Amino acid sequence: MGLGLRRTHAELARLGLALDDAFAIILTHLDTDHWNPGWARWLPSRTRILAHRRHVEYGTRWGALPRRAEPLDDALELPGGVTALPTLLSHDSLGVTTLRFELPGGDSLGFATDVGHVSPSLVERLAGVAVLAIESNYCPRMQAASDRPWWLKQRIMGGSGHLSNEQCADAVARIAPTRHVVLLHLSRDCNRPDVAAEHHRRAPYELTIASHEHPTPWVSLSAQSGGFQAPNSHTSSLPSPSCVSLP
Ligand SMILES: [Zn+2]
Repeated sequence: MGLGLRRTHAELARLGLALDDAFAIILTHLDTDHWNPGWARWLPSRTRILAHRRHVEYGTRWGALPRRAEPLDDALELPGGVTALPTLLSHDSLGVTTLRFELPGGDSLGFATDVGHVSPSLVERLAGVAVLAIESNYCPRMQAASDRPWWLKQRIMGGSGHLSNEQCADAVARIAPTRHVVLLHLSRDCNRPDVAAEHHRRAPYELTIASHEHPTPWVSLSAQSGGFQAPNSHTSSLPSPSCVSLP
């Protein structure tokens, strides 16, 4: 939801999807690279939008979120027997929501971005997920050598900004995902896919690296064929019923 409105519609259409297909949109936080405030006016009216209560209060007060945005503080039941479990972690002033999705049959997805540092709450919440999508934002050497201003480097590396490649690898080792890791949110200026991948070279899981330019390939969340199937008829055009795309 951090992309331009027109581009988002176009990228979804390339996958045979439309925004109307989404049962709900869950926001981790309101930074503009995650939530383009233009959506406050142009989101389909039937799409639910959820975020932590702090983000909902702030976003609706300043017009960045539609008035109908709902607080997501506890477990949320989604179609198909999927449960979303949010945890608020520190990030800038309002924090960031990390999510664990539990699927019928025991498979699970962890989603963590803009978490700043590897906290015990992050590790506990996502421990042992089948698929882990996690930020691997920067290479410290590239960050230090960049011509970014000192305050920006401090904001990113100061513990409530982003995870470096090394911190991401440490988080992954402690969370111990069983099947697949998707690296998210690589900095355009201070990271490269090959540099980030180096930290996962002999790992026992599959690795996917999300790109700024291309949609992430489908990643299966279910070990069993036909395990998870979205029940909503609007999702019948999904490329595979047991997959979800991780931007
Ligand atoms: Zn971000």
